[in-house]
Amino acid sequence: MATKKVLFITGVSSGFGRALAKRALSEGHRVVGTVRSLEAKETFELSHVGHAFGRILDVTDFDAIPAVIAEVEASVGPIDVLVNNAGYGHEGVMEESPLDEMRRQFDVNVFGAVAMMKAVLPFMRERRRGHLINITSMGGFITMPGIAYYCGSKFALEGISEALGKEVKPLGIAVTAVAPGSFRTDWAGRSMVRAPRSIADYDAIFDPIRAGREAKSGKQLGDPEKAAAAMLQLIESAAPPAHLLLGGDALALVRDKLSAMSAEISEWEKVSRSTDG
Ligand code: NAP
Repeated sequence: MATKKVLFITGVSSGFGRALAKRALSEGHRVVGTVRSLEAKETFELSHVGHAFGRILDVTDFDAIPAVIAEVEASVGPIDVLVNNAGYGHEGVMEESPLDEMRRQFDVNVFGAVAMMKAVLPFMRERRRGHLINITSMGGFITMPGIAYYCGSKFALEGISEALGKEVKPLGIAVTAVAPGSFRTDWAGRSMVRAPRSIADYDAIFDPIRAGREAKSGKQLGDPEKAAAAMLQLIESAAPPAHLLLGGDALALVRDKLSAMSAEISEWEKVSRSTDG
């Protein structure tokens, strides 16, 4: 039987984080989960007494993170797997969306995840083992109008994960960016921040996208419980990948993007080569 691990998962109150915590607990692992209210902490800890440990933390409270990690290492045990799951989607036409909303999007989805990894890495380096998992998105590979800030944040996290993976592989630490397609979580519902409309020029391109996403919320293709099972498989892997897509939609859309990009690179190859020498 596989060894039981300590998982630290940010954002276990709903969606992927909750499903992954539940699955990991049911398989005998111990899970430290972050939440943002006392009520959510109690609900989480009662879900599996003695194995589920709640910690109240907003991932943008960067200065608080190192102490939370150090305390968990001392009281619960060595963290084997960190899952940076906490995050949200900002939806809005870029020109209409205030820069402050971009800062918030990057604070949560990028800076929060990096701050968590920085806090855990000294412990993992000392042990020469560990697995950092960052939940990105298919929006970290493909883009669509109306989610520029979100895609920017997820492209950033994909890039950081991949580069970090190369830095820490010789130290026995794996980094995986997990990019889900559309799943039935609270992402497009209560969690989404929607910038108000102000420029009529964008009505034609953007209004159908916003309406479509609202209508689809709760009916997406992906099942978070199946994502949790896939992530547990990832955690058990002796050779985890740098990138893992989840969902048939993510697979098809990312493959299309990569082949379109490859075709465009070829089309412009002569110009690209013209700058050498
Ligand atoms: P969700 O159901 O809305 O869950 C988001 C979780 O993140 C909640 O636990 C939330 O806590 C937490 N969170 C948000 N901001 C936080 C902050 N500043 N500090 C600490 N915790 C925070 O949505 P989800 O789909 O499971 O989202 C999880 C991750 O998957 C996100 O990174 C999201 O971008 C990514 N993702 C989702 C989809 C999808 O289709 N669902 C697709 C690709 C990627 P509260 O309950 O306190 O708000």
